[in-house]
Amino acid sequence: MRCLWCGKEKGTSPGEIFWEDDLLCSGCRRQWIRWKEVRRIHTVVPEILYRYNHMGSACLRQFKETGDEALKDVFLYRDRNRLKRKYHGWTLLLMPSTPEKFQQRGFSHLEEMYGSLGLPMRDCFEKTAEAEQKLLDYTERQSIGIRLKDAALPERVVLVDDVITTGATLRSALSCIDRKKHRVRILSVFGVSGDTGIP
Ligand SMILES: [Zn+2]
Repeated sequence: MRCLWCGKEKGTSPGEIFWEDDLLCSGCRRQWIRWKEVRRIHTVVPEILYRYNHMGSACLRQFKETGDEALKDVFLYRDRNRLKRKYHGWTLLLMPSTPEKFQQRGFSHLEEMYGSLGLPMRDCFEKTAEAEQKLLDYTERQSIGIRLKDAALPERVVLVDDVITTGATLRSALSCIDRKKHRVRILSVFGVSGDTGIP
């Protein structure tokens, strides 16, 4: 089997024997650096899998912008079984794209990325158009930007995203949910760290 990213034939290094059906070779996988920092979004400490570095950014861009279906399982591959167990009984709430972005892509990249967990997923938020958001000042952007389309949520929900940058979108999503009625967790594949050099 060839590495999905660099095309090298896999199967010889010890890491590749252990993770034999990983879609990436051990050389490429080594560039996926685990997230170690503790962040807080309101009172929730999000679970973040990797630092958003050049490798993560390149894979995510290729997946989102070219619709490279084959890459969809690369992101959760090493965490899939653990996450399935950890979030059993929880419902994933997908963070929204703007309608323009969704139309451009023609698919929901989060639904594809998180689909391998086999957990219930809901597309229950909607985002106001980016053009509208640009007109707002910083404080206004913090408080709006996301609405719940469907307020009837299950009791245990996980907000899922691809990259956490400032956390503003997630904060906005959290403020739509009644925390007395719902248990809320946050899960993201990538987090932006101060020194990754990725804008
Ligand atoms: Zn590779």
